[in-house]
Amino acid sequence: MWDEVEARSEENGHETPVIELRKIVRLYEMGGELIYALRDVSLRIHRNEYVAIMGPSGSGKSTLMNLIGCLDTPSSGQYFFNGELVSKMDDVDLAAIRNQQIGFVFQTFNLLPRSDALRNVELPLIYAGVSKSERHDRAVQALDHVGLSDRMTHRPNELSGGQRQRVAIARALVTNPSIILADEPTGNLDTRTGQEIMRLFEELWKQGNTIILVTHEEDIARHAARIIRVRDGRIESDGPNNERVRAVVDDVKGG
Ligand code: ADP
Ligand code: MG
Repeated sequence: MWDEVEARSEENGHETPVIELRKIVRLYEMGGELIYALRDVSLRIHRNEYVAIMGPSGSGKSTLMNLIGCLDTPSSGQYFFNGELVSKMDDVDLAAIRNQQIGFVFQTFNLLPRSDALRNVELPLIYAGVSKSERHDRAVQALDHVGLSDRMTHRPNELSGGQRQRVAIARALVTNPSIILADEPTGNLDTRTGQEIMRLFEELWKQGNTIILVTHEEDIARHAARIIRVRDGRIESDGPNNERVRAVVDDVKGG
């Protein structure tokens, strides 16, 4: 079994990474002062990896996620998305990545308060120019997927925190992205609800998605197969979460 896992990761290693950062620096200038949010960050993430990014507040986690999600551009260094240099892409290419390949989940859910769950989930499809009836069907399906078929006409303030985050996950999934970026998705949820949300990510991972998740909770990071620790804008460590990898192998053996 271990041979098989190693062979598979070996094979994976030769594949073009979906995400490759080379010596990325992100500098902010504030009141004449320079702040290095990221210094010399290099990393590769392959298809279907499940990565947790950990680090104290202010260490650069959100900056890193925004860069990976093409919501921000580095001060220097190179970012390759599926082997292509992001700085060479035009607005149409970038919008296509953001709208079709990546699904974003945020700590504060970022739902439209006056729109019901269905409308919130339909939104990315409106931007993508999908027809009204297809939009509706796909949003219904995505909400069903996260267990909210009975809450479609509820507005965010009529939903619990966990339900709001599930709406946000449905919104991230409705465009069928292969990569899910989640920045502290359980940060505003109680432990039990947080674990429920983690089960959803688990399922998405098993379905073949690439999951990149920021958290400062060890309990949440434990779910990932790889843990990257950042401190002061630098990668402090990056390696497999051995406990998790072993559990997956046992699971495969058992089933
Ligand atoms: P984390 O998500 O790990 O808490 P951030 O990536 O948000 O950290 O921030 C990293 C550093 O960059 C912090 O020192 C923060 O104050 C600074 N920073 C983040 N965004 C900005 C900004 N828009 N302008 C100036 N400084 C920023
Ligand atoms: Mg942050």
